[in-house]
Amino acid sequence: MSKAYFICGTGTDVGKSVACAGLLKNMPSGQAIKIVQTGEELFDQNLYAEACPQRQSKTLRHFMAPASPHLAASMEKQAIDIIALAQEVHTEALTAEVTLLEGSGGIMTPLSETDTFLDFMVALEYPVILVIGNVLGAINHALLSLDALQRAGLNVEGLIFTHPDAGYTENHPVSIDNMEIIKKYSQADILGVVPHIHELSWEGSRKDAWSAVAAFLKEAANRLAEPCRESDPASEAVSDFDQEHVWHPYCPAPGMGEPNWLVAKTAGNYIYLKNGRKLLDGMSSWWCAVHGYGRPELTAALNMQVRAMSHVMFGGLTHEPAVDLGRRLLKILPPGLEKIFWVDSGSVAVEVALKMAVQHWQGRGFSRKIKMISHYGGYHGDTLGAMSVGDPVNGMHSRFSGFVPEQIFVPRPAVPFHAPFDENSLTALAEAAEKHHQECAAVIIEPVVQGAGGMWMYHPDYLKGLKEICRRYDLLLIYDEIATGFGRTGKMFATEWAGADPDIICLGKALTGGTITLAASVCTAHVAESISKDGNSLMHGPTFMGNPLACRVALASLALLQSSDWAEQVRSIQHTLEEGLVGCRNMAEVRDVRVLGAIGVVEMNRPVNVSRLRKYCAEKHDIWLRPFNNLIYVMPPYTVTADECARLSSAVSLAVGRREWA
Ligand SMILES: *Cc1c(COP(=O)(O)O)cnc(C)c1O
Repeated sequence: MSKAYFICGTGTDVGKSVACAGLLKNMPSGQAIKIVQTGEELFDQNLYAEACPQRQSKTLRHFMAPASPHLAASMEKQAIDIIALAQEVHTEALTAEVTLLEGSGGIMTPLSETDTFLDFMVALEYPVILVIGNVLGAINHALLSLDALQRAGLNVEGLIFTHPDAGYTENHPVSIDNMEIIKKYSQADILGVVPHIHELSWEGSRKDAWSAVAAFLKEAANRLAEPCRESDPASEAVSDFDQEHVWHPYCPAPGMGEPNWLVAKTAGNYIYLKNGRKLLDGMSSWWCAVHGYGRPELTAALNMQVRAMSHVMFGGLTHEPAVDLGRRLLKILPPGLEKIFWVDSGSVAVEVALKMAVQHWQGRGFSRKIKMISHYGGYHGDTLGAMSVGDPVNGMHSRFSGFVPEQIFVPRPAVPFHAPFDENSLTALAEAAEKHHQECAAVIIEPVVQGAGGMWMYHPDYLKGLKEICRRYDLLLIYDEIATGFGRTGKMFATEWAGADPDIICLGKALTGGTITLAASVCTAHVAESISKDGNSLMHGPTFMGNPLACRVALASLALLQSSDWAEQVRSIQHTLEEGLVGCRNMAEVRDVRVLGAIGVVEMNRPVNVSRLRKYCAEKHDIWLRPFNNLIYVMPPYTVTADECARLSSAVSLAVGRREWA
């Protein structure tokens, strides 16, 4: 397999071609390509030839004027088309084991009226080597270049320092400090250092300097030329340690379960595995990544905030990120919900909601109201209180009986979302409420869609009846919208389907667009008031409460969501999933097919072999799915295109229909 690197510089005359020629001299099966040469001579190509007389080298575009490529091209009434040029480069790169591609000037040098070298590098997606001319001012040029490369999502392989100026040799205090500071702020690898070589500065003696240059770049060249293997040892070491020592969700001890796939990066709607596979994401990383991955708006928010303040304790202190986010959130939440408690994960948001309910009744003099009514098939998180209100059968109750507080359970809402509602489906709930209300504080439920407990979509009128029962029997109503919030079901919050709003709402997952963990419990003024009766406090206070990084990203994520046409995106995903999955209805072993918003579910008669199905989807269809139990489901980022979404549903259809993996 062949490899290619893009060699760019922090500016003109920093020694890109010298570094390129020096690397090439160490690579017997390498080639160097100058992308655009301006000026009369094929200067760089000649330089490579001088350093490595027997070696292949090429210039792809040549313009006579000694100017920036866009200008030199336009003087000859030509224009550089970066798509065509990128195609050419890809083809050329296949002809050698290692290809070094040299740019012109710095990374923002214009190539055409509309594109810079950076755009071209993004189109090519090759790893980048930044050559830094180590002189006064290098820090600024290097860090700005690295920042731009990182923002563009390019992989920086490492840095090469050159010393073109006799005034700043490698031992000069400025040069030494430059290297330290650049390393510190960028955390990039230093691949090599070429000291000041006097002979390089004039043509007559340059010929004799190449062996010296090459010697300084030998190690760098070896690293770059290392053949890509199917199995690369560094990745294997990561996987080995992971297998041996790192626990994953709901798994036996490390090393006892299935190996986990090593992810190299995520971008857009894709997950890139270290082994080179690129998977279309059908999971949004468990409801979170609604905008896809690596959105510059979110990364920028995080970067800006990290420079001002990553975290500060919330006890006795406050900050704009937490307040601004609260303001923004209250504008979209149902009216009445207005007192916000920030926490660091969904499960903890549920714990806080349960405590709020208990403390609410304490405040009103009902200290016996300490139990919860919940529904079979629900999922509310993995901490103790949250687990206690999760489904008692498929959940973890039997495993922790005696340890988990016992709650009151009623059947899941029986009427499907699209069927005509039946009042009788509320009977069991009404009976339980009547019987237990004196010992119960609240009813907790995931509105409209029960997620991890069974991906069940039920009729919103159930919530109307539920709210009425809560009112009648003095029970608070808690909605766990950790999964359904922020547009997933087609409404901003699932509570909007019913118009029966809760006393307390739990939010999480998509709140930060999948960037970083943040959750919240928000209650009404009435609940807050009862809690605070007689000077009482809500007894919770996580260390990372209101984390500014998380709040800033959440603000950016909400802004992004609200400026997008998320409702239309979700509608069109629903449409594509309905069309794509309808065929599964009549297939063998299928119990039910249901779609709501950006959630598509195929429920099978029996549990599926999760690991084989996951593998089949990745290897046969290049998509990422993680079914559980008897449920094969997709919930893509809202940013999937119609074609991508169709790919997801057709893969599910094929998987269910052919069962090659079973
Ligand atoms: C995921 C989830 C939780 C738990 O959130 P974590 O952040 O994983 O603790 C709680 N409730 C619902 C409905 C969820 O989907």
